[in-house]
Amino acid sequence: MAVRIDHGRCCSCGGCVAVCPRGALELKALYVIVNEKLCNDCALCLRACPVGAILPEAPGIRRNDEIR
Ligand code: SF4
Ligand code: SF4
Repeated sequence: MAVRIDHGRCCSCGGCVAVCPRGALELKALYVIVNEKLCNDCALCLRACPVGAILPEAPGIRRNDEIR
């Protein structure tokens, strides 16, 4: 599995790219794309995203705005 990016929310801040330990995220002009072969669902990028644009695919992983 791999995370998904909500392209409507992503503002291309690059925060997730900076924290991904596997180089699975690539910053494009308008949003980030995910290399599904590299992502291991560690969820670091979910916690780094200020706008909740990264969506977990693996069960049990929650976005920052879902963690209470
Ligand atoms: S879940 Fe981990 S490996 Fe996958 S894109 Fe996010 S930071 Fe990178
Ligand atoms: S941290 Fe969120 S808003 Fe920033 S580039 Fe990544 S997905 Fe987009």
